[in-house]
Amino acid sequence: MVPAEKHGRTAAVVSKWDYAPAPEAKDIVKIQDRYGLFIGGKFVEPLSKQHYTTIDPAHEEPLAEVAQAGKADVAKAVRAAREAYATTWSKLRPSERAKYLYRIARILQERAREFAVLESRNGGKPIRESRDVDLPLAAAHFFYYAGWADKLEYAFPNRKPRPIGVAGQIIPWNFPMLMLAWKIAPALAAGNTVVLKPAETTPLTALLFCDVLRQAELPPGVVNIVTGDGRTGAEIVAHPDVNKIAFTGSTEVGKAIQRALAGTGKRLTLELGGKAANVVFDDAPLDQAVEGIVNGIYFNQGHVCCAGSRLFVQESIYDAIISKLKRRMSTLRVGDPLDKNTDVGAINSKMQLDKITSLVQSGIDEGAEIYQPPCKLPERGYWFVPTVFTNVAQSYRIAQEEIFGPVLSVLTFRTPDEAVEKANNTPYGLSAGVWTEKGSRILAMAQRLKAGVVWANTYNRFDPTSPFGGYKESGFGREGGLHGLEPYLAFDE
Ligand code: NDP
Repeated sequence: MVPAEKHGRTAAVVSKWDYAPAPEAKDIVKIQDRYGLFIGGKFVEPLSKQHYTTIDPAHEEPLAEVAQAGKADVAKAVRAAREAYATTWSKLRPSERAKYLYRIARILQERAREFAVLESRNGGKPIRESRDVDLPLAAAHFFYYAGWADKLEYAFPNRKPRPIGVAGQIIPWNFPMLMLAWKIAPALAAGNTVVLKPAETTPLTALLFCDVLRQAELPPGVVNIVTGDGRTGAEIVAHPDVNKIAFTGSTEVGKAIQRALAGTGKRLTLELGGKAANVVFDDAPLDQAVEGIVNGIYFNQGHVCCAGSRLFVQESIYDAIISKLKRRMSTLRVGDPLDKNTDVGAINSKMQLDKITSLVQSGIDEGAEIYQPPCKLPERGYWFVPTVFTNVAQSYRIAQEEIFGPVLSVLTFRTPDEAVEKANNTPYGLSAGVWTEKGSRILAMAQRLKAGVVWANTYNRFDPTSPFGGYKESGFGREGGLHGLEPYLAFDE
């Protein structure tokens, strides 16, 4: 192409695109000053008489006072769930149960914008993600499991499926509504009742969800929401009248729960941490792969258990991938989660920011080369610039430990065997990605990578019909699909 100046033309060359602010309005959702616990179909004051403040991490501003449930509160919630199980929910015709789940799904769709704004305010994630991913997927889970509620005999033929009772569910802060849906939808479809604890830092959408339950006229006590910190979670785990614990969170807490439940006969599923390998072969479509790499690690600020946090690049394309990746990173917009242009929002909490900062420092100290694109961060709030480390050795902490932030470690390989060996060199086994043109190579790699989920030529794809979960230190049990129903059912076999 001939440059414009050679023609004597002086057409302005646009070298930089600036985006005008496009903030989503906050007033669609009303946040109460103070919340109680949702037990037996209504909000009640906590017996503990304790509250704590939940904040907006992008502005470090308080949003509401939230109850800290104690032992007596958890006991009250479990009693409500048990009573609802015995008197109502387990007695309902399965098609009636389905009706409530469909209602919840439809109301979630109708109120999606309200939920998305609240999710972004309380959690720090970009509105584009809460609007386009978290909320549609949460509603889709309720729709999907509503469909199974009256077809359990067909789903598990000749096994006489029946509900197990009260499920205690503990969820993390990275996908508050989506994790709530992953937990509650299959539990209710199978005929169980629920006591759920949202994460300490992100309780607000779970509390708004109580209003959806009221609108759907769900019988009181079928779903109970108790807020609080890890102590509240531990009380749910320890309660003798809970039949099953479903936990998503860190491997460390997952192990503690497993120890606490040993010998009790309670059911358990654990969805824990990860350190996924995203493996790019030299025949991969490079631009598409770079989009997948960026989505894999910078989506939701990297607060994703299946984040593609270790990038393995075949040596022959290393320079090309790194230069394309750096160029793409320079276009990421970091800032206000409520701005529709934002790609990377706020870090969820000061504690998580400190953890990311210290692991990044360890990467520098151990000798890796850091790259961060020029980026102006807001003055208040918790932020971390999208980061890539090259020259990383497998033994470095940044290649071994889950950072749970927007930080990518790049390593290289020469042969498929070497890629498999290095990718599997981690205690985790949650997810992996493979980028190649060859179908046979995709299948071969998927078989050899020790990960519960392997994406090929894409990343972070979710669907309610598809089971998700890990093995090794990433946990056990599956969520999504028919596999996600099984942990909530007992069988006469
Ligand atoms: P935790 O495992 O501490 O928390 C997950 C949930 O468990 C929260 O609701 C938490 O409450 C609760 N909890 C904490 N301690 C106990 C306990 N002893 N018994 C029962 N429940 C408990 O994870 P964090 O949210 O603190 O995050 C720490 C790290 O965990 C992250 O940096 C990341 O590496 C990993 N993580 C992995 C996730 C995944 O999806 N696999 C999700 C979130 C985190 P509270 O919120 O009050 O602490």
